[in-house]
Amino acid sequence: MKLNLTHTKLVDIVSGKAEALSEQQIDIIYYDTRLINTSRNGVFFALSGRRNGHDFVQKAYDKGIRSFVLSKKVELPEDAVIITVEDTLRALQAVAKYHRNQFFYPVLAITGSLGKTTIKEWLYFLLSEEFNIIRSPKSFNSQIGVAISLLNMTEDHDFAIIEADISHPNEMEFIEDMVSPTLGIFTGVGHFYLDNFESQKIHASEHLKLFKHSNITFSLNDQKSALRRNKINADLIDVSNWKNVDFSQLSYSNNRIIALHVAEFLGIDKETLNKKAALLPVLSNRMEVFEGQDNNLIINDSYNIDVDALEQALSYQFSSEERKDKIVVLDLSFVDENRKKAILDVVDSYQPTQLFIIENNQVPQELLEVKNSSILFKGSYRSRLKEMVQLFKNRKHETWVEFDLKAIEHNISVFQNKLPEGTKTMVMVKASSYGTGDVNIPHFLQQLGINYLGVAYTDEGTTLRENGINLPILIMNTEIEAFEDLIRFNLEPSVFSMSQLDSLCNRLKQDNITGFPIHITVETGMNRLGFYPENISELIEKLKSTPEVRVKSVYSHLADADNPDNGYSLQQIESFKAMKLQFEKELNDDAILYHILNSEGTSKFGKIAAFDMVRLGIGVFGYTSTAKEDELLPSIRWKTTISQIKTIEAGETVGYSRTFKADQPMDIATLRIGYADGFRRSLSNGVGAVSINGVSCPVVGNVCMDMTMVDVSEVNCQAGDEVEIIGESIDIQLFSTRLNTIPYEVMTSISKRVSRIYLK
Ligand SMILES: *Cc1c(COP(=O)(O)O)cnc(C)c1O
Repeated sequence: MKLNLTHTKLVDIVSGKAEALSEQQIDIIYYDTRLINTSRNGVFFALSGRRNGHDFVQKAYDKGIRSFVLSKKVELPEDAVIITVEDTLRALQAVAKYHRNQFFYPVLAITGSLGKTTIKEWLYFLLSEEFNIIRSPKSFNSQIGVAISLLNMTEDHDFAIIEADISHPNEMEFIEDMVSPTLGIFTGVGHFYLDNFESQKIHASEHLKLFKHSNITFSLNDQKSALRRNKINADLIDVSNWKNVDFSQLSYSNNRIIALHVAEFLGIDKETLNKKAALLPVLSNRMEVFEGQDNNLIINDSYNIDVDALEQALSYQFSSEERKDKIVVLDLSFVDENRKKAILDVVDSYQPTQLFIIENNQVPQELLEVKNSSILFKGSYRSRLKEMVQLFKNRKHETWVEFDLKAIEHNISVFQNKLPEGTKTMVMVKASSYGTGDVNIPHFLQQLGINYLGVAYTDEGTTLRENGINLPILIMNTEIEAFEDLIRFNLEPSVFSMSQLDSLCNRLKQDNITGFPIHITVETGMNRLGFYPENISELIEKLKSTPEVRVKSVYSHLADADNPDNGYSLQQIESFKAMKLQFEKELNDDAILYHILNSEGTSKFGKIAAFDMVRLGIGVFGYTSTAKEDELLPSIRWKTTISQIKTIEAGETVGYSRTFKADQPMDIATLRIGYADGFRRSLSNGVGAVSINGVSCPVVGNVCMDMTMVDVSEVNCQAGDEVEIIGESIDIQLFSTRLNTIPYEVMTSISKRVSRIYLK
């Protein structure tokens, strides 16, 4: 970001008030203290999102910031310049609007409920030789994200692509006013965000407000009536214009056609486009963060190297305190001289411990010797850096699972959009978050602003607390021996029997504790844990006379939510309602939360039975029986690699007990995965299969503890190639069916020795 503002100008733009002003320069805006880098003249905007920015003003000051835009009074030392405004977000947007209006090049805005980021990245791919493009980083498409994207415009660019999204009515006006797009792309609206809007029509109209003043808006033919109704100048895309490209094997063909059409409109010749149609990169424009060899933390962002993306990656790297030494590795091979300088300036401003510039695909020896550091890899889409990064992977055991945090975020919003406004979200993170790892997913959920976490046992809660999770944590199943930990770590137990309540209260009395938070489990038909309806009166009487505890919530659990026949679930909901009524009447505490829905229940009954909160689990990862209809995205990819390939003759056998005998010559690959990884032995002899370079390869012989042999006679492959266990070709449902089980068990059976990678 390079702004050209002074304090006086800023006050004017945001219509703010300030006591003392100067002509001091401002060249960057911060709204997150973790990103502050004091070698630049910054101003801190205290936004109120999930966290109130006003709570971080002192922290920003401590990090060297002296200029602030605030909407509340905060005490600061005298050398701080405070600009007071009514609404800090609107103030930020006013600056973004002012900044955007300094430039006269085309601004193409993309909105709609699906495909925005894909289309943006593909257009970038198609246009970046012709234009110097500024585009929204990642999916920065919110009220704040759009402002930040615009603030990154500079006079060196000559084309801007801005993504915008809304989740509620009456949000788009503000975005339109800021962006003033000259061109637009409307990707259409799906039905899954509908909940905050009255109808799909209204949803589309809200999106289309972005293009009120645009010259032309591109869209597929089937959106014709929406565009016409909203009086938008439309360029409707006829899919058949691209019939000489075979899209049948390609993903997201409609998005491809939109990108190609717009690129053609902007002057790229059709012949080139026809060639590129099938080459649009599979989008991996996302940072990959993983533990590497020698205790290094690897941040792999080797997809592009424009300055904005670089700033994003650097601020990510420098905001984490995990490793003190920060190493930056750049491959500038495909970058022109001007941009090289800009890139090096940005890197310089962060003062990394060491900077390596890769030439001719040579890895410097010194880089291979780096230890205990965080290493950021950044190169263009065409550079070979991607392969180089593999050298830094932890090679102890080359089987890993990847978790797609974007998909998880998307899935959560799908569920939240089904709920009445104000409904809270608890995510169940029992069993190491369904086997995804102890702390990464809980941390991510905490960042997303989830209200509550739930676990099965006290130990699981303790682990979360010891790793910096400060959200409230519900424990489902509390043992008397664990009361010490409950108190020490501020964990909230579920109470499901009178005797358990008694022992807890006795323990609390010893320390004179009152008002300790508890949750009441009630039985509605699962027959697992909880008070029966006939005991509720007695329980309530007891609760009235025990100041040691305070009921935070009352909950029950559905037993049959995935049954297409809703009868039993509705019966449970009715029984829960009756108990709720009783609590409300007799205990009379308005603050108590009531909840009964899990993921599947939320899909089906989110509208009618969410009460105050829902408890999501498997659905967060994208695996429910209605995942497809709900447009949930799968979030798990489980991979291994080939260690060796052998050719065997007819009559030879493979593996222990010689259960497989070849009846013709064949190629056999040995994989680095076995039943100790969770690839169960029951997958032996053709029950299981893996996917290698897109081809299904059946298991041959018995699965061993650490290795498995598969038939690769039909596929072109070599040692070192990646093998998919679960992913695009083999979804978790298919894998579970082969094992005669359900995705829950598959997820929680991937063993601890398999390394976990989280994609942001
Ligand atoms: C595991 C669990 C959930 C989450 O269930 P999903 O089917 O994974 O959504 C919710 N509530 C309770 C009590 C649970 O044990």
